[in-house]
Amino acid sequence: KFSGTLDISRRDEIGQLAKSFQHMTERLSENDRIRKEFISDVSHDFQSPLLNIKGYANLLMDSELPETERNNYAKVIQSETERLSSLTKQLLLLTSLDQLESPLDPKRFNLDGQLMEIIRRHRWLLEEKQISLAMEMDEIEFSGDPAFLEKVWENLLSNALKYTSTGGEIEINLIDDEENVLFKIRDTGVGIPEEHLKRLFDRFYRVDHSRTQEIEGTGLGLSIVHQVVKLHRGNVEVESQEGVGTVFIVVLPKL
Ligand code: ADP
Repeated sequence: KFSGTLDISRRDEIGQLAKSFQHMTERLSENDRIRKEFISDVSHDFQSPLLNIKGYANLLMDSELPETERNNYAKVIQSETERLSSLTKQLLLLTSLDQLESPLDPKRFNLDGQLMEIIRRHRWLLEEKQISLAMEMDEIEFSGDPAFLEKVWENLLSNALKYTSTGGEIEINLIDDEENVLFKIRDTGVGIPEEHLKRLFDRFYRVDHSRTQEIEGTGLGLSIVHQVVKLHRGNVEVESQEGVGTVFIVVLPKL
């Protein structure tokens, strides 16, 4: 029975083996740490809307409550339920991305058409916030997963809308450069301080910024963007200047 420690400084096969065992153990405990952190983040994100729902539901039990208060409490319950629902949807999407076995089952579809449809769905918000939208789009037939890619455009556009204040501007470019598809979305929003850019695509990462704190979000949108883009062997980058605006650039190779 072997009961000693393997010496990683040995230069022979035993030393090599010891080194790779050590590397594997490190990887396993890193995965374990990430999983624990993920579960704790998820629990925390579910806990606060649930507490609000419970609290306001209790208040609603009071039969003496004036009509306006009653409506306000019901509205909080409604918006917290929506928050839970969108969180669940995003988590399910991330899980389905994680569990994907084969790389992709690409379908050919019209990319600019898909993008136009998503923009159309957000028209009301553009109008409500009086944000002007400039677009330049090439016609592109693309091979990829339309359901996943839809989430990329959807998340980037809804972020641009969320983090840009009334009267701002958004510019969208979709360019076909033969080898790649280039998608660029620029906004004149709050911007992101440099020190946050590195972790922006991490799960649950949100910029702790007084100006964005009151804006609702889960911190999952950009990690979905990153994962879907990687799945298509592409790349996503961000450039931003606080108080000036942000540009996200997605490059997807044509399969
Ligand atoms: P969230 O649900 O919080 O919007 P995301 O993963 O989509 O989560 O984005 C992560 C963080 O990146 C956001 O909390 C926000 O601080 C920042 N961010 C994303 N897009 C923009 C943007 N267009 N302008 C400014 N900040 C942004």
